[in-house]
Amino acid sequence: MRDGRDTGSRSTNAVQSSPAWSFLGGDALSRRISWNGRCVREGGGPWHADRVIERLDEPVPCIAEDAVAALLRDAYGIDGPLRRLAGERDLNHAVGDDYVLKVQNATDGEDVIEMSSLAIAELGRREPELPVSRIVPTRTGALWHPVTDAAGRTCFVRLFTLLRGHHPGPDELDERGLYGWARVVAGVARGLRGFFHPAARYEIAWDIGRALGQRADIGTVPEAGRDVVAAVLDRFESHVAPVLGGLRAQVVHNDMGRANVLVDDSGAVSGIIDFGDMTHTALVCDLAVAMADVLNGRADAMHAAPAMIAGYRSVTPLEPDEAAVLADLIAARLAITAVIMSKHVRDDDVEVLDDRDGAIELLHAIEAAGFARFAEKIAAEARGAAPVWNARTDAALRRSRDRTFGPQTLSYDEPLHVVRGEGAYLIGADGRRYLDAYNNVPVVGHCHPEVVRATAAQIATLNTNTRYLNGGGVELAERLIASAPSGLDRVLFVNSGSEANDLALRIARFATGRRGALVTRFAYHGITAATFALSPESWQHASAPPDVALLDPPGGAPAELPHPGHPDVAAAVAAMGGDGLAVTVVDGCFISDGMRGPAHGWIRRTAGATRTHGGLYVADEVQAGFGRTGDALWSVAAAEVAPDFITLGKPMGNGFPVAAVLTRSDLADPFIEATDYFSTFGGNTVAAAAGLAVLGVIETDGLIEQARTRGARLSERLDELARRTPALGEVRCWGLMAGVDVLDDAGRPDPARARLIANELRQRGVLIGQTGPFGDVLKIRPPLIVTTEQLDLLVAELGAVLPV
Ligand code: PMP
Repeated sequence: MRDGRDTGSRSTNAVQSSPAWSFLGGDALSRRISWNGRCVREGGGPWHADRVIERLDEPVPCIAEDAVAALLRDAYGIDGPLRRLAGERDLNHAVGDDYVLKVQNATDGEDVIEMSSLAIAELGRREPELPVSRIVPTRTGALWHPVTDAAGRTCFVRLFTLLRGHHPGPDELDERGLYGWARVVAGVARGLRGFFHPAARYEIAWDIGRALGQRADIGTVPEAGRDVVAAVLDRFESHVAPVLGGLRAQVVHNDMGRANVLVDDSGAVSGIIDFGDMTHTALVCDLAVAMADVLNGRADAMHAAPAMIAGYRSVTPLEPDEAAVLADLIAARLAITAVIMSKHVRDDDVEVLDDRDGAIELLHAIEAAGFARFAEKIAAEARGAAPVWNARTDAALRRSRDRTFGPQTLSYDEPLHVVRGEGAYLIGADGRRYLDAYNNVPVVGHCHPEVVRATAAQIATLNTNTRYLNGGGVELAERLIASAPSGLDRVLFVNSGSEANDLALRIARFATGRRGALVTRFAYHGITAATFALSPESWQHASAPPDVALLDPPGGAPAELPHPGHPDVAAAVAAMGGDGLAVTVVDGCFISDGMRGPAHGWIRRTAGATRTHGGLYVADEVQAGFGRTGDALWSVAAAEVAPDFITLGKPMGNGFPVAAVLTRSDLADPFIEATDYFSTFGGNTVAAAAGLAVLGVIETDGLIEQARTRGARLSERLDELARRTPALGEVRCWGLMAGVDVLDDAGRPDPARARLIANELRQRGVLIGQTGPFGDVLKIRPPLIVTTEQLDLLVAELGAVLPV
């Protein structure tokens, strides 16, 4: 009973609310129908499926409190203070703080009581960790026993252990809570594996497998919901009904929504109650029921699903056929809810109305987002796209990380514990969504479904090296060559940007017979021994490596930098000494130098002079490539320079490690022959699938053009902000790569303020970074799929954290 009044004398002849028992200090509020469409066996014959008895009319068993106390004493040998609990079908009393005595509604036949009692006992044995209320046997060892109530009806009595907790509100559970909840759903089903009882063949209208039975009553649904419910059932008929019978099936709880599960104050499941909807059906229906019922009413319902799927999968991986129908099953459960509740709801039954309206609203939201998209996302998660994370506290994680990683840097003063990525967002363990405008690896958005699909399908099929004939790597190489300036006709696959630059350097030294290398003043090109030498950002506090000299980037470099720079190639080569110039390596965006691009003239001059001095030119596109600049796939194209090498990395696999060197056959082939070049993982079959998927998405979604137009808007908004705010200096934007100088009150570069800004933005849910020799430049690099609204939000939040 929802209003908490005594229900003893009340006739319950309309829709009943369940769970019939939920023990929350005597004022438990059951909040929705959990049963009402079970077929019963007639005349002792076979189990009937054609007469649905909606047992809504039978009043609560009528037994006076002193008779209940006597019953408790006689049957269980327990004397305890009794406290009447809510329950619209059953007569419930708390017994002290330990038990609940439950006199079941007279319509619950002994076979159903037997089934749930045996199931609960089985669960207790097989999954002792699950917080399932246990049945306390009578003095004679029975799990239930009959009584006759004042109206002469036979009812069955059971004594349960009392569970503590509360039913969570619609938005109460964070991602960790949803994940844990679904783990429990899977745990209960695992505990019931192999369990059977003839009563499990009862037909229950709430079994999603029987969704089409609701068609007859669609007319009872409010008009605004009828079409969407009808569409769901039509799709169920064509997509689900033909395959459902072939899926794994077993007895399942079938009702682990918010009404039947209790949580503690941290959101962890503390109790599972009401086994009244148990049935034998497709296993995946059990998950769909829990998801539909938990998501119903949540403000972020469309985003909360992955955490539940991940939780379930962490216990019971889903099979591909189950993954394929999960979205339809969730929708069908919502449709069933909409119809059954419409049919029986009383006008004053606010919570039932809420559930019905919530179900209709969620169905509309799914349709608005596009059912196919929703289904694909759900299926991808269910197939195993979502990882399982280890639910440690942030502090514990940090300690373990420090113990194992040592002092490797974490971003932000308050490090971010992330558990999932989706599009332009990273999702924290606290369930919060962070706009990721920092990470240029997920160029087409975190966990892009196409990249996920392609890599998952490939790793489930074949993953091996490039020394076999296989189409993937070859096709990727062909597409890269087709995208590059003419003359670059060789692709050597590696695994990281560092390896790509290292390999380009080796080839250049092999081809020229010289060792000298030029890089910009504060460049970063990698972590290997050779590319460390090409990265003054990393060795600025040590002595300069041999054979390397520094060029001032476009716009110059701060005079305070420890190692001198040179204005041009000629000056740098003269200063370098050694055996002369082999290579000049340049990041087209000059990100580490403080984001100095575009600088087409500088690049043309530098590449030309490099050749004049007998060297080769490497366009390091690890940062600037894959359309980020909005001009072309490779930033160097805008400078109209034909480089000798293009090195690729970071975004190439949207997070899957894959990198490459594009170069000319006259440079590569002699090197390959002389060294028998081969990389075990470079260009492996899955890496190739990732690379092809990324190129495919960039092309089909027009992301280069999008980077141009959205980058222009970002640039405009940042300029506007910088004009209004003395703390911001020059804004340098090229496509969706932006650098913004941060100044102190006297107009000097201010790294401390830049750090403060980045940290405050992180607290407000927006992630950016810092760059430049002193870290005084804000680094903004959202994925190319970022929306204009997200960019506007970014600039608005930046404006909000700046000093006025
Ligand atoms: N080149 C540039 C321009 C980079 O920014 C980086 C990485 N930040 C690298 C090379 C090295 O790439 P990776 O970290 O994949 O080895």
